[in-house]
Amino acid sequence: MKALLKTSKHQGFDLLDIDAPIPKENEVLLKTQVSTICGSDLHLWEWNQWADDFVPRLPLVVGHETCGQIVDCGPNVNLSKLNLKIGDLVSVETHLFAGCSCSPCKNGKKHLCSSGEILGFHKNGSFAEWLTVPVDNCWKAREGTDPVTASLKEPLGNAVQTVMTQPIVGKTVLITGAGPLGLMTIAAARAFGAGQIFVSELQPERREKALSLGADHVIDPKDQNLHSFIEDKTKGRMFDVLLEISGSNQALNDGLASISNGGSVALLGLFPSTVNLSLNENVIFKGLTINGITGRLIWDTWNHVDDLIYEKGFDPKKLLTHSFKIEEYKKAFHLMEKGVSGKIALFPV
Ligand code: NAD
Repeated sequence: MKALLKTSKHQGFDLLDIDAPIPKENEVLLKTQVSTICGSDLHLWEWNQWADDFVPRLPLVVGHETCGQIVDCGPNVNLSKLNLKIGDLVSVETHLFAGCSCSPCKNGKKHLCSSGEILGFHKNGSFAEWLTVPVDNCWKAREGTDPVTASLKEPLGNAVQTVMTQPIVGKTVLITGAGPLGLMTIAAARAFGAGQIFVSELQPERREKALSLGADHVIDPKDQNLHSFIEDKTKGRMFDVLLEISGSNQALNDGLASISNGGSVALLGLFPSTVNLSLNENVIFKGLTINGITGRLIWDTWNHVDDLIYEKGFDPKKLLTHSFKIEEYKKAFHLMEKGVSGKIALFPV
C-alpha cells in the first residue's frame, strides 16, 4: 500500500510502498477514507526538538487525524458488542490506551494512560491506504456523516477539551493563535458559553476568520499592544481565561502578563523547544491555574464534539481550505509551512 513515512531525522517525508498492516488481537483494519493534517504533523515534517524528543523510533507512518471504514477484525473483536459492524465509518481516537490498572485508566483519564501510545507518533499512523487500530479507539460516525467531518472530530475534540477544562461560562477569554485549532477553539468557546472572546493572531486572513467564528475582538500582536487593547475594551478588568493555541513563547508570555490574578490557563499549543517564562511574576504571584491539554476525555469529549456538530450546528468543514491526493503531499506540507491554509485533507487514493 502507499504510505507516507518519516524515515530519517531530516526535513520531509517519503511516499513508499509498504505491506498493508494485519489486525492483531483487539484491533480492526480500517480502509482509510481521508486524513487531515495536524499542526503536530508539521513538527514531524520539520523534525524540530519536540519531534526528536517525542518520537521513539523511525521509520514511522505519520498521520493521525483520520477516519476509515471497518473492513476486517483481528482475534477477540466482538463488533456487535460495541454497536459496530463491517462497513461502518469510524473516527479514530488517537490516544491508544492500554485500559490497564494505572491510575489515569482507573480514574476516567484513559487518554493519559501510563502505557499509552499516540497514533502516528508511537505507532504507525493514518497517511496510508490501510490502518489498524484497537477497536476500543473507534468512534462510530452518525449516518450520512461526511468523511472529512469524521476526520476533523479528533482536532475539534482537542479544542472542545481545551474549552471544557476551563471555567468558561460567561468569562472573558483570550485565545492566542487562530490557526485551524485556534479557530475550532473559538467556535467551541462561543458554543459552550464564553463571554467576550479576544483573539490574538499574526495573520490577517485568520483574524477575519476568527471574527466569523464568534470572536468579539481580534488583535495583531505585532502592530497593537495586546495589554492596552484589552484594558481599553474591558475597562481595566482584563480577562479570566487564557487559551494558548499558537505554540509561541511570545504569545504565551503576552497572555500571562495580561491575564487577571486568579485566572485560568489552558495550554494546547506545542512549543518547538523549551519555553522561557517569568514564573514568579506571571504565574505564582498571580495565583494562576494552568492546565496542559493533551487529547480528549474518552468518550466524554467525543460526545461534546457530536453535540457541537449535530445539535449546535458547527460544521468543522468550514475550516477545510485544501484537499490533495497522498501523492501530492509535498504541496500540502509546503502550504502548511507557509501557515496560511486552514485544514488540509489528504486522500489515500
Ligand atoms: P498553526 O501553526 O496553523 O497555528 C498557530 C497560529 O498561531 C498561527 O496562525 C500563527 O500565526 C499564530 N501565532 C504565532 N505566533 C503568534 C503570536 N506571537 N501571537 C499570536 N498568534 C501567533 O497550528 P494549529 O494546527 O492551529 O495548531 C496549533 C498548535 O496546537 C500547534 O502548536 C500544534 O502542534 C498544537 N497541537 C497540540 C495538541 C495537543 O494535544 N496538545 C494537539 C494538536 C495540535
